[in-house]
Amino acid sequence: MKMTHIVNGRIIDPANKRDEIADLWIANDLIADPPTDAAERSESDVIDASGLLVCPGLIDMHVHLRDPGQPQKETIASGSRAAAAGGFSSVVCMPNTNPVADNAGTITLIRERAQASAAVNVFTTGAISKGLKGEELAPYGAMAAAGIVAITDDGQCVQNHEVMRRAIEYAHLFGLPVLDHCQDYSLVGHGVMHEGEWSLRLGLPGWPRIGEEVIVARNILLAELCNSPVHCQHISSGGSVSLLRTAKARGIKISGEVCPHHIVLTDECLRTFDSNYKMNPPLRTASDIDAILEGLADGTLEILCSDHAPHAFYEKEVELDHAPFGITGLETEFGLFCDVLVHKRKVLDLSRLIAMFTMNPARLLALDRGTLSTRAPADVTLIDPDLEWTFDKERSQSLSRNTPFHGFELKGRAVRTIVAGRTVWKIED
Ligand SMILES: [Zn+2]
Repeated sequence: MKMTHIVNGRIIDPANKRDEIADLWIANDLIADPPTDAAERSESDVIDASGLLVCPGLIDMHVHLRDPGQPQKETIASGSRAAAAGGFSSVVCMPNTNPVADNAGTITLIRERAQASAAVNVFTTGAISKGLKGEELAPYGAMAAAGIVAITDDGQCVQNHEVMRRAIEYAHLFGLPVLDHCQDYSLVGHGVMHEGEWSLRLGLPGWPRIGEEVIVARNILLAELCNSPVHCQHISSGGSVSLLRTAKARGIKISGEVCPHHIVLTDECLRTFDSNYKMNPPLRTASDIDAILEGLADGTLEILCSDHAPHAFYEKEVELDHAPFGITGLETEFGLFCDVLVHKRKVLDLSRLIAMFTMNPARLLALDRGTLSTRAPADVTLIDPDLEWTFDKERSQSLSRNTPFHGFELKGRAVRTIVAGRTVWKIED
């Protein structure tokens, strides 16, 4: 048996309510109790974690790996390397691949590719509707059997509420949560940025807050009607936070997630017409940021993720109206959140920050991850919460470079990522 002994670190394991300086033992690919055998103790590999946090491997439940179908943007191999370099031992990939992951065959293909080439655990989601068209439900039973952990039409949004109701009810039969990209097509139209002062000044079509809020409200009502969980992806609007807060207080199974760009950047960034500020949903205003931070502080929003959305440079190097939405995010995500939420705005302590990357997504998706319990898979992330570093996009593991965070000075970084007992990435000394 191969034993690994991580010594002197501060173990933060929210699922077990632990926050203490202690040692962690790994036996092969599982978290283990300390060995009683002196020989095993002395022959173990020792990792010194002095000054570091020792956390369950981080989970990013919203990434686009573009595989199959768009290897010019990313592959499972490259995207999972970026995940490892960001401190993530697990990612959940979205089904808007080519072909769309709306059937068991494509899910199986993705899982087999991940098995063969991924540096980290890749969990798959299936589409809500066939071809992401919002009309006909995909076969959830067959996709569940193939191993999906949730359904979502991310990138698209089911507009027909009756179809969405049936999707939630049908997913409930298989114990699958529904993740929704909240966008009302009639209200958003061809909007490319937040509808407000800056869209007016720049003469660009606006994507109003209400285009998100209407669907958040719809999802709250459907989650209540069906008594089944619905999760609102990448919340951008302060109004959505208020809706989620009152719904959660009423006990409705609704939740929301936050991406770093929505708390770090505002619509004013589009002043440069740089397509790396074009996201869906769009960057909004300082008041939205404050509302999202309040929502994180009071527990209305419980999950942090990247919405890692790689695009090739030539796809982004076009007029703003025509550029695709989205940015890469796996390698900047932890640093941005730690820097802003813990250090600068002091919205969360480290333990709550880690919970939002581990226990909370694991619970929503019923993953056997996000914990350092004995006999859990040995996915562990070592973090230096005070490390000051500068992000250099040229050194990114992703195949794409569409990020607005090049040159950002951040405080807090993962320094080693362990998946199933094996170090898959570590910072260069
Ligand atoms: Zn989306």
